[in-house]
Amino acid sequence: MGHTLVLNTDGLPIGVLPLSSLHWQDAVKAVYLGTVSVLHTYDNWKIHSPSCEFFVPSVVMAREYVKVRRFVGFSPEMVHLRDGYRCQYCGDRFHSSHLTMDHVMPKSMGGKLVFSNVVSSCSPCNSRRGNDVRIQPRNAPYRPAYGELMSKRRKYTVVIPHVSWVDYIGWPEELVRIEQPTDVPGYIPYGEEAANELAVLLQQAAG
Ligand SMILES: [Zn+2]
Repeated sequence: MGHTLVLNTDGLPIGVLPLSSLHWQDAVKAVYLGTVSVLHTYDNWKIHSPSCEFFVPSVVMAREYVKVRRFVGFSPEMVHLRDGYRCQYCGDRFHSSHLTMDHVMPKSMGGKLVFSNVVSSCSPCNSRRGNDVRIQPRNAPYRPAYGELMSKRRKYTVVIPHVSWVDYIGWPEELVRIEQPTDVPGYIPYGEEAANELAVLLQQAAG
């Protein structure tokens, strides 16, 4: 996930799968080029150039409407999201890292790695099934629509870098987790640690 959320001119994120965002450097560039305008900034993240300093944007809006093709690219993550992170053989729920993709029509029989032939499966079920086509998944695989996956995605936690995103992403608030950016120049993290760091700096300055 980037540092800066990018909205379309309608005020909605350009994309949700994943949320459209930019790395802070690209966001700054886009502001300079005038392709986006700044809606919110990090109030604790300032960057400097020889001639000026400014706060890194946290939310920007495109100046011209960006036409988007609502297309779901094939990936394991999208397959598991479609299948609700459930093994389509035993029905149990798993973290995506414990799910595999099973070819419903086995590879050896010409089955392809596409949405319409692949389901989520836990490893034990996957090896138990092998090439036995008599064992069929609980739900037949299909190509999911963008809107369907988008609403499914919003049922799971999203990790965002700044609170200003909350108003735009349309996520249930209890499923939003904010994690501050790390290892970026000019960023002063909030919290106790930051207070301590600041105290040390002040001491050093005074001494
Ligand atoms: Zn299973």
